[in-house]
Amino acid sequence: MKKTITLLFTTAFALSMLIACTNDQSNVNEKNGDQKVQVVTTYSIIYDIVKNIGGDLVEIHSLAPIGSNPHEYDPLPADVQKTTDADAVFYNGLNLEAGNAWFNKLMETAGKDGENAPVFLMSKGVDAKYLTTKGNEGEEDPHAWLNVKNGIIYAENARDGLIKVDPENEEIYKKNADEYIEKLEELHQKAIDEYNKIPRDKRILVTSEGAFKYFSEAYEFDAEYIWEINQENQGTPDQITRIVDIIKDKNIQALFLETSIDPRSMEAVSAETNVPIKGKIFTDSLAHPGEEGDTYISMMEWNIKTILEGLSE
Ligand SMILES: [Zn+2]
Repeated sequence: MKKTITLLFTTAFALSMLIACTNDQSNVNEKNGDQKVQVVTTYSIIYDIVKNIGGDLVEIHSLAPIGSNPHEYDPLPADVQKTTDADAVFYNGLNLEAGNAWFNKLMETAGKDGENAPVFLMSKGVDAKYLTTKGNEGEEDPHAWLNVKNGIIYAENARDGLIKVDPENEEIYKKNADEYIEKLEELHQKAIDEYNKIPRDKRILVTSEGAFKYFSEAYEFDAEYIWEINQENQGTPDQITRIVDIIKDKNIQALFLETSIDPRSMEAVSAETNVPIKGKIFTDSLAHPGEEGDTYISMMEWNIKTILEGLSE
């Protein structure tokens, strides 16, 4: 009898321990889930910058998939749900999100009026540049992040936005931002030093999309393109003829492709001019996780290496 009671007691004790452990576990999970700031970003480059400032305190859903063109995007039902539930939304602005049309529509559908879940403009404070081709004149050019100095402004805006929605963790966001911005300062200086190895008259970058206005000013390049902005994905015959003439006139020796763009137009230009494509560079998207170029810093380092090699030969 004594043995049975002991056994019963032991079993009950073990059971209660098991239940206690299970409860503890679920409490921890719930607590973590509640604590993380729910963030939506519009594309991968902003995702990475916000992630660097937010660290483990944020859970981010990024809209336009890696490798795709964020100028044009059709939000999926899951995107609408995530945006509805988000504590904060970060977007590029400067005409990136298809003149902000898909983005504005999503914000409206998700009920984000800026009061319940703030919407933060990453390019706030950037000195905007403007499109020049017929039909687009006067529209803002979105590609500010290709100048790392502007990437620093993005990081500051990410920091300020996160502090606004989660003021309790202000010190952590500030510390993360300080460390990240220091790395971006080094990256900007590295870009200047490396690009200075290319003679100024050889510093001409030919790409499909004219994404290099901010870049060109920062790092003293001339930039030529087939089309000015990715609201199209193939060059028209007139655009191809125009760039072929420029390549011949300026005796350009190297062409570049972008990772997030259909290669056929640039391949046609290369065939027409006999000028080789010297590599792929990142403009509107990061690389997939685990590949070179999968962070903002890594994509800019890849571009430095690829452009330097392509224009030095
Ligand atoms: Zn673009």
